Amino acid sequence: MRKICPLCNGLTSSGIRCPKCGGKMVDQGHIKDYFGPYSPYEEDLWPLVMGKVEGNITNGCVHFLACDHCGNKTQRFIKNIWM
Ligand SMILES: [Zn+2]
Ligand SMILES: [Zn+2]
Repeated sequence: MRKICPLCNGLTSSGIRCPKCGGKMVDQGHIKDYFGPYSPYEEDLWPLVMGKVEGNITNGCVHFLACDHCGNKTQRFIKNIWM
């Protein structure tokens, strides 16, 4: 048994609805893909992103989501699950 992120492992779709139009929010990838160790924007953006998500980063991961209907973008904290 170990804790994994269901989105990173392709186990599920986000199941999150767009707050603007109610469309389906599609996973755009793990936030670490965007905030790599050499990203020049990391220091500026990371606190902004982290301020928007609830929960402890060590118990899950943050994904970018985009609405496939209106294009609305957001970040969501995805809780890890036991596998
Ligand atoms: Zn993930
Ligand atoms: Zn939308």
